[in-house]
Amino acid sequence: MQIRTQMTIESNRGGALVVAKGQCIRIEGTTIVDFVAFNRDNLADRLDQARSKAVNSKLFLTTGDVLVSRTDRQMFKIVHDGFPEGTHDLDKGMCSASGYQYRLKALGGKLDKQDERAVQAVPTHGCWENLIEALRPWKVAAEDIPNPFNIFMTMEVDGECGALNMTKVRPTRTAHVDLVAEMDCVVGISACPDTIVGGKAVTVTVFED
Ligand SMILES: [Zn+2]
Repeated sequence: MQIRTQMTIESNRGGALVVAKGQCIRIEGTTIVDFVAFNRDNLADRLDQARSKAVNSKLFLTTGDVLVSRTDRQMFKIVHDGFPEGTHDLDKGMCSASGYQYRLKALGGKLDKQDERAVQAVPTHGCWENLIEALRPWKVAAEDIPNPFNIFMTMEVDGECGALNMTKVRPTRTAHVDLVAEMDCVVGISACPDTIVGGKAVTVTVFED
């Protein structure tokens, strides 16, 4: 294994890098990681949550499944999923400053001691802002950042009514997911503040066999 790039992304920060076709990117952590990808040669062609679900005919992707772009081209293949105790999400979008502001408004006006602590714990920004900042060198507009592949984010889906519920299920110890690039990609990664269980740093490694 030849390491090409390695970076640590602290909680509620972002990072971005190029992953060439055939290279493998390893995402290693214990809490939610928001992963987005763009075709390096045409940044308008980017990760598509809906097409990725359609091509795999499922909501939860794992080893052997692929992430596809808006033009239905394969971007990444998952070759290792070290999170058997949970699943990854392709439905929930990403957290953002405005989302956290809504939460603060919902808490406003009826604060007791516990709520005050809750308000202090609400982040000032989220994955969207982290990705905007990280992708600045590629001049990706904020509104062009696609909905992510949410690694280590286990959602409970009610098969009858379709209700989506967050869970606290995360890796019980540091786990990793390996994805092999099927085209040259620009990848953006946010170490989600994961207010459900508390965000942690994420290690990202790009390597070749
Ligand atoms: Zn987030």
